[in-house]
Amino acid sequence: MLTKKDLPLDGQRALVTGANSGIGAAIARSLAMAGAKVVVNYVVNEQAALTLIREIEAEGGQAIAVHADVSQEDQVQNMFQQMFDAWGSIDILVNNAGIQRDAAFLDMSLEQWDQVMNVNLTGQFLCAREAAREFVRRGVIPEISCAAGKIICISSVHEVIPWAGHVNYAASKGGVMLFMKSIAQELAHLKIRVNGIAPGAIKTPINKSAWETQEAEQQLLKLIPYERVGEPSDIGRATVWLASDDSDYVTGTSLFVDGGMTLYPGFREGG
Ligand code: NAD
Repeated sequence: MLTKKDLPLDGQRALVTGANSGIGAAIARSLAMAGAKVVVNYVVNEQAALTLIREIEAEGGQAIAVHADVSQEDQVQNMFQQMFDAWGSIDILVNNAGIQRDAAFLDMSLEQWDQVMNVNLTGQFLCAREAAREFVRRGVIPEISCAAGKIICISSVHEVIPWAGHVNYAASKGGVMLFMKSIAQELAHLKIRVNGIAPGAIKTPINKSAWETQEAEQQLLKLIPYERVGEPSDIGRATVWLASDDSDYVTGTSLFVDGGMTLYPGFREGG
């Protein structure tokens, strides 16, 4: 049985984009277990979204599924309207939806470049803008949170680590980092907190080839000083903290949840 102490997000309303898979699903689950009602956004595979909702409900949480392609302005606006119709407002946005379309730079098509930018960067802009407009309209409700609203942008260690063969992805995540910091600066006086989470290697469908065989996992572990590949729940727990009043004085920060991947592990022996 959950107690009040375990529910730092009691009474809050959260929207998680791309929440029917991998990290987004774990974030939705963690927020729900912390007491938030959660919109599970999905663009494909409604069944996975509905299964997640049943799991959340079985644990005593509340969630609804809302379809939207985050790169499409009208669909994003419609998604927020559906949330407001259901629950009145929003307290927490988690910009999680993201894709990779990998290619060697010399072969990368404009389509591959645009697809990644549209989802990973424009999608975060469209959702953050809708959430921020609502936070400003509604203001702080002290019984719910010290802040008028919280935005958490899921970026990647590739917001700082260059990534050959994935330049569209790395450029989008570097963009997410300065997007996050710039809106944090602009919105702080309105009591809106904006932060990022930069995951390292987390076991999800997006990077299955990097961990699905023992050989691949051993290669990957060479990049991770903490000597384990991350789990989606590692990101879920960090998100709960950034969404809660426990982190009330934190804004404009990238929280690296990466087992030390950004510690230049190659320099452990040498340099
Ligand atoms: P995933 O492929 O399991 O999940 C991505 C989710 O985004 C899916 O639900 C997908 O349907 C959704 N999505 C894609 N395009 C969308 C669109 N246009 N509109 C709405 N939703 C859309 O992968 P994941 O690893 O869970 O990735 C989640 C986030 O974490 C991404 O932003 C990714 O870049 C980031 N990330 C992942 C890792 C990792 O190691 N897995 C590391 C760093 C960052």
